[in-house]
Amino acid sequence: MERIKILSTVHLTHDVLGITAEKPAGITYTPGQAADISIGKQGWEQEMRAFTFTSLPDDDHIAFTIKTYPARHGVTGQLLSLTEGDELIIHDIFGDIAYKGEGIFIAGGAGVTPFIAILKQLEKENRIGNNKLIFANKTKADIILEDWFSRLLGDNFINVLSDEENADFRHGYISADLIKQYMDGHLEHVYLCGPDPMMQAVEQQLSSLGITGGAIVKETF
Ligand SMILES: Cc1cc2nc3c(=O)[nH]c(=O)nc-3n(C[C@H](O)[C@H](O)[C@H](O)COP(=O)(O)OP(=O)(O)OC[C@H]3O[C@@H](n4cnc5c(N)ncnc54)[C@H](O)[C@@H]3O)c2cc1C
Repeated sequence: MERIKILSTVHLTHDVLGITAEKPAGITYTPGQAADISIGKQGWEQEMRAFTFTSLPDDDHIAFTIKTYPARHGVTGQLLSLTEGDELIIHDIFGDIAYKGEGIFIAGGAGVTPFIAILKQLEKENRIGNNKLIFANKTKADIILEDWFSRLLGDNFINVLSDEENADFRHGYISADLIKQYMDGHLEHVYLCGPDPMMQAVEQQLSSLGITGGAIVKETF
């Protein structure tokens, strides 16, 4: 457990915060992993929530990309009021998502955060290859780091919007047909992260395509 100071906060979308903070001494994590975080303010120090590192292990700071829910009056609502110099407390580091090789990343909303870290690492190592990201959101305004993903992945960045008709994007939910369209023959790895209902739906679709078990690297947000 370590107390660290926030270095900056920025709005990445209307409800997503980018927070950078001091790097705790001796911290180790792999791209895709998360930490239990609480806020270093009276009344909030025991309220831990999991957030994924969107910085890289070698960076001189740590960063998080956090979707906020002020209406829930929980931790993410409180994070909206924090500024430079306020403190976070880092507890355990954990997480099941790690890069195992080229494949399709499938994310719903803030579930994209482990893939931000993994794709940043691959970008740094010039190993983006033919990796693809299928990203489900309600509207275009909800897409986190749209410009960065577009530049990084080009046509391998596939957006699906459920609540907005937009000529530039697919409309509806992720489907087995859509996934199949982006499977080039044999698909070795699928990385899946998002809210529970989305995860269940996509796992069923993957199963109908014969993708099960160890081929799926996943975490529920
Ligand atoms: C391994 C892991 C990594 C994660 N990484 C990230 C990340 O990088 N970025 C990110 O944005 N998120 C991430 N999450 C999700 C994140 O942990 C939650 O969004 C966060 O805990 C929400 O905290 P909160 O205190 O604001 O709200 P909550 O603790 O979810 O809610 C506070 C209260 O609001 C009520 N409530 C809860 N859900 C609802 C609802 N749907 N509608 C109405 N009321 C509700 C309940 O009374 C609840 O006690 C991750 C989750 C996991 C498991």
